[in-house]
Amino acid sequence: MTKHIFVTGGVVSSLGKGITAASIAMLLEQRGYKVKMQKMDPYLNVDPGTMSPFQHGEVYVTDDGAETDLDLGHYERFAGITCNKSSNFTTGRIYSNVIKREREGGYLGKTVQVIPHITNEIKLAISMFDTSDVDIVITEIGGTAGDIESLPFLEAIRQFKHESGRNNSLFVHLTLVPFIKAAGEMKTKPSQQSVAILREIGIMPDLLICRCEHPLTEEHIEKLSLFCNVPKEFVIAEQDVQNTIYEVPVELAAQNLDRYVLELLNLPVNNLDLTDWNKMVDNVINPVNGEVKIGVVGKYISLRDSYKSIYEALSHAGIANRVKVNIKMIESEDLENSSEDEILGDVCGLLVPGGFGSRGVDGKIKAIKYARTNNIPFFGICLGMQCAVIEFARNVCAMTDAHSAEFSTTTTHPVIDLMEDQKLISAKGGTMRLGAYPCNLSEGSNARASYESASISERHRHRYEVNNKYINELLDKGLVIAGTSPDKKLVEVVELKNHPWFVACQYHPEFKSTPLKAHPLFKGFIAASMKNRVRK
Ligand code: GLN
Repeated sequence: MTKHIFVTGGVVSSLGKGITAASIAMLLEQRGYKVKMQKMDPYLNVDPGTMSPFQHGEVYVTDDGAETDLDLGHYERFAGITCNKSSNFTTGRIYSNVIKREREGGYLGKTVQVIPHITNEIKLAISMFDTSDVDIVITEIGGTAGDIESLPFLEAIRQFKHESGRNNSLFVHLTLVPFIKAAGEMKTKPSQQSVAILREIGIMPDLLICRCEHPLTEEHIEKLSLFCNVPKEFVIAEQDVQNTIYEVPVELAAQNLDRYVLELLNLPVNNLDLTDWNKMVDNVINPVNGEVKIGVVGKYISLRDSYKSIYEALSHAGIANRVKVNIKMIESEDLENSSEDEILGDVCGLLVPGGFGSRGVDGKIKAIKYARTNNIPFFGICLGMQCAVIEFARNVCAMTDAHSAEFSTTTTHPVIDLMEDQKLISAKGGTMRLGAYPCNLSEGSNARASYESASISERHRHRYEVNNKYINELLDKGLVIAGTSPDKKLVEVVELKNHPWFVACQYHPEFKSTPLKAHPLFKGFIAASMKNRVRK
């Protein structure tokens, strides 16, 4: 029988519920259990695909083409879990399922209500994960205890636990024990109140995980245990980690969190082997090959979460190359009015990530020209790849007004154009080219050398593509088509001749990188950038 763990959060948002849930999953997997994870988000968008990264951070894309919450990225990176369309539900998605069913006559004669119809739909979304090949499902509830909008989710998991019987489900509550500077002390009251809110709606946390800046003292633990109604040993500290988020599971395991979880679920406590994980963490802490500075030129730079998977993948490539990757975040618009040397003069490698809309595109193109003409390793991703093609068309092929049809309706050289099957689509939600597609890499390319493979599969999220009408002209001047869709109709990877490392791909490799297995392109990019450290 599949067991369930529900992870809720209290006091404030941004406590790292996703990382905590993913850490638990990783530890349980290391103890031999097959774990699946899902996230419930209490907002009304059907998925985060139409939201600005400034609102929500990055949109994480799964193999099966779901546009999801970025916490799913943590699930895949920590626990090697493959998420899919059923791994992320929002209030909007739950409601639209219920309303669709109502229109179809699925509730004929009944008044459709939040309780029981919405809560039943939530329980259905959770139990859909209950397949025979999975031992434990971890469900993270987004939002903070006390939010009005997360109430139906909390009521649904209360019912779920009640119906699943003893030792089959448990509640983990993540809270904050803040340090109050003026008093010089840590305070447990917010956590007590957060648990009181949960109790009011019938949820008794089994385990309490406390985010804190300083260690919890015996006194704190006693208070939390007594007033939150959990045994002392089930009060777990999750103190801020020093070097990397990948230390979190190690810290939790040291307090036996995973052991307690298994005991509470009445499951055997198998051996825990963290050798590879600890070695990886040690590589982060001791980068024997020094440091390398990478410039990331984007337009959502001010919010770190917007490029979450990019930054993670860069750090994984650092781990694989045993080097500390220092990321210089560069607002692309800043490049539009300043000299490139001033802003880019100190970076060893340059990455231009994906994006939408014309703001900042000129800065990205300027940065790419700088990387191309100064032999700086360059890695372009999605829009970054499209900008690389525009730059090449303008400055090497003399198509001075070359542009993407996304940004210019008047250009005489739309070297990037809307994909054929996108031309009739006007709805914005879930309509891009999404998810994993195969790609063939050409002999002798940097990409093929990095992947050590001729055929790969990568995740996509775009509407525009390289316009095949211009390919011959681009090829004539030295652009290399290093990867295409198997039918050769879509350009997937471009490179440059006579450049140390210039690789740009239409897909998003960052979604498939993990700390134990860095993505080959990121690894190759960092290796090439390390060779360029002579610059400054
Ligand atoms: N805006 C571009 C497109 O839709 C690139 C998308 C992206 O970078 N994810 O094709």
